[in-house]
Amino acid sequence: MIPFLDLKAQYASIKSEVDAAVLSVLGSAQYVLGEEVAAFEREFADYCTTDQAVAVNTGTSALHLALLALGIGPGDEVVTVPFTFVATAAAVCYAGARPVFVDVDPLTLTMDARQLEAAITERTRAIMPVHLYGQMADMDAIMAIARRHDLPVIEDACQAHGAEYFGRRAGSIGDIGCFSFYPGKNLGACGEGGIAVTNDEALAAKMRMLRDWGQEQRYHHVVRGFNYRMDGIQGAILRVKLRYLEDWTEARRTHARRYSALLAGSPTVKLPREAAGRRHVYHIYAVRSPDRERLRHALQAEGIQSGLHYPIPVHLQKAYADLGHRAGDFPVSEAAAQEVLSLPLYPEMTAAQVERVAATLEMEAYAG
Ligand SMILES: *Cc1c(COP(=O)(O)O)cnc(C)c1O
Repeated sequence: MIPFLDLKAQYASIKSEVDAAVLSVLGSAQYVLGEEVAAFEREFADYCTTDQAVAVNTGTSALHLALLALGIGPGDEVVTVPFTFVATAAAVCYAGARPVFVDVDPLTLTMDARQLEAAITERTRAIMPVHLYGQMADMDAIMAIARRHDLPVIEDACQAHGAEYFGRRAGSIGDIGCFSFYPGKNLGACGEGGIAVTNDEALAAKMRMLRDWGQEQRYHHVVRGFNYRMDGIQGAILRVKLRYLEDWTEARRTHARRYSALLAGSPTVKLPREAAGRRHVYHIYAVRSPDRERLRHALQAEGIQSGLHYPIPVHLQKAYADLGHRAGDFPVSEAAAQEVLSLPLYPEMTAAQVERVAATLEMEAYAG
């Protein structure tokens, strides 16, 4: 059996350090925020090459606070993509604003900058590209359009810890970058977690206040805030794991290269593309095939798990029906949703496992 990811293997590889970190927080009784979270904020900001980081309880909260810190609310529009995890659009709605979608580019499946300008209206207040699967969106093109329209950019970097765009780290190019530490992400907590990074001290200060009940000082609530604080235990665990992230990312990239080399000649499987100047961190390695379901079953028959990221684009989700979209509105996203198939990929995977997955796919591809 080859799992889609193996969090037990990761824990086993760093167990003594993680256990010690947890025990130290238990002893310190700094269970919410505290020194470990503050140290993690500094270390993660360094990792992203930003000045500030504000740790929160989920990636969705980071997106929500980023929007609020930028003053976005009811009546406002935020331009984003429909081919993403639902949280991207949900955060816009939490802020009371309306998500306006731009289709994705067929090669990278990230925001198609060529279509961005047409989605901007007099109500647009921000642009929120998603660094899908661990590959950054075309940030130069997006930033140029954003600056021309005087709009802030929030990077949804929830899948892209350590990804780069011409040498610049995910989260460091837009006004605010948001990351998730959901256990399955490239850097995962042992529970929920998220963070917002920025070079803007004022935005960071607003987000710090908003995550902790809008207090300026204890029990002096100057804005209506939230309980979005990160747990001390998660901060301590994330500090340990952050030290391994570069090694894990390189392992992911090695496995991805091996998949791509092994599947290169395949008649029915299209491979993910790393665009020029990008460091793809392969949160997800998704191939594309019109025969996706058949391939998925063939893998399953061999005990190989796979995933679908994502089978329904947000604009066609029932929960977002009130946005008034229908099939055909975003054809690239819709085609991708029908064809993508995510293969097992995690740092602890072996070359032999990668080869077995690729061989199983190849056999099925030729059989069809
Ligand atoms: C995981 C994810 C989120 C949300 O993060 P949570 O920590 O689960 O709230 C947002 N956007 C994208 C693209 C994600 O993959």
